[in-house]
Amino acid sequence: MNPIFADLPTTVFEVMSALARETGAVNLGQGFPDDPGPADVRAKAAEAVVEGWNQYPPMMGLPELRRAVAAHYARWQGLDLDPESEVMVTSGATEALAGALMALIEPGDEVVLFEPMYDAYLPLVRRAGGVPRFVTLTPPHFRLTEEALAAAFSPRTKVVLLNNPLNPSATVLPEEDLELLAGFCQRYDAVALCDEVWEHVVFDGRRHRPLMAFPGMRERTVKIGSAGKIFSLTGWKVGFVMAPPHLMKGLAKAHQFLTFTTPPNLQAAVAYGLAKDDSYYEGMRADFARARDRFAGGLKDLGFSVLPSAGTYFLNLDIAPLGESDDVAFCERLVRQHGVAAIPVSAFYAHRPVRNVVRFCFAKRDDTLDRALERLRGLA
Ligand code: PMP
Ligand code: GLN
Repeated sequence: MNPIFADLPTTVFEVMSALARETGAVNLGQGFPDDPGPADVRAKAAEAVVEGWNQYPPMMGLPELRRAVAAHYARWQGLDLDPESEVMVTSGATEALAGALMALIEPGDEVVLFEPMYDAYLPLVRRAGGVPRFVTLTPPHFRLTEEALAAAFSPRTKVVLLNNPLNPSATVLPEEDLELLAGFCQRYDAVALCDEVWEHVVFDGRRHRPLMAFPGMRERTVKIGSAGKIFSLTGWKVGFVMAPPHLMKGLAKAHQFLTFTTPPNLQAAVAYGLAKDDSYYEGMRADFARARDRFAGGLKDLGFSVLPSAGTYFLNLDIAPLGESDDVAFCERLVRQHGVAAIPVSAFYAHRPVRNVVRFCFAKRDDTLDRALERLRGLA
C-alpha cells in the first residue's frame, strides 16, 4: 500500500459512528441531520429512477443540472458562471476535492492548508504530491492573520485550500479576512480551492460571500459545493465544481478517470431542488438555528462552556474549564460511559496543537438533543 495511506488511521467519523452503534450512544459525532430532507426533492429522485434516468449521463454532468447550478449561484451569490465551460458535476464535494488537487498540483508544489481542516484534505494533498504548509487557526475566533499567512505562503505556493464556513469550528470568515487571503493569492499567483459546502447553512442573518466574488479572484478560484448540505441529503454525494475554463480543463481530465459521472436520477432531483424558492432555504436555516439554540442553551444550563456557532451543523465545547486537556480521551469516555458520541477537534489538526475542543452535531430532532443533554447532566 502507498505509505501515505498505510500510515493513516480510519477516519474519525467512521470510528465514532461505529462506536455509537456498538454502545447505543446518541450519535452527535458524524455530521448528518435527522431531518429526511425535502420530500419533493426525494420524490423527484424516485420518479427519475422509475422514468428511466439510469444510464451514464454526460461526463460533465446533466445539462439541466449544470444550468441549474449556474442559475443558483447567480441568484444567491451574484456569480456569473457559464454552465458549458465553468460548471462540472462530481460525486460529492470529496471527489471534486480529490480531482482538483490531482489536477492542480505537481509534485513538490506547496499547498496552504488552514487547520482545523476537514480530515480528507491532508491525505489528498500528500497523495497528489503536494507539500502542506499549515496556517493554524485557534479558538474561539479561528481568524486569519497577516503574519500567519505571510509565514505560510512562498513562491512555491500553488494552491490554497480554504473551507468557509469552516467545519469543525462553525465559524464564518469575516470579509476582511477573505480580502486579506485574496491579496495573498494574487501576490503569490496561487489558485484558491474553496470548499464552500456549508454556504447555505449559515445563521443569524448571515449571507455567504464566495472568495470567487472578490476582486481579482474570478480567474484563480475553484469553488466547490455539495447538494448533500443544501438539501440535508448527505448520502447522495452530488457535488459541483465551478472554475474558469483554463482551470476547469484540468479538473475535467481528472474527473473523467476518477468517477467519470454521477447517478443521473440524483442529478435530475438536485437540478429540480436548486430552483426551489427562497422560503426553502430560509426554512432550512431557521430549523437548524433553532436546533442550535436548543442544544447550546441546554449545554449552557448544564454549566458547559459553549463556543459560538455561526454556521454548519456543529457547535463546539471548550472542555478546558472541566479540567480536561485531552479531547480524544474525553470523547472516548463520553461515548462509552455517558452514551453520547462527539468528535475530538484535534482530529482536524495535523499536530494536535488544540486539544480542548469537542464538536457536537446539533442537526437533530429535539428528542435526540434532549436525550443527549440528559446524558451530559452532571459532567460540567
Ligand atoms: N468538505 C467539508 C468541509 C465537509 O464538511 C464535508 C462533509 N460534511 C465534505 C467536504 C464532503 O462533502 P460530500 O459528502 O459532498 O463529499
Ligand atoms: N462531513 C461530515 C462531518 O464533518 C462527515 C463526513 C464523513 O463521514 N466523511 O461530520
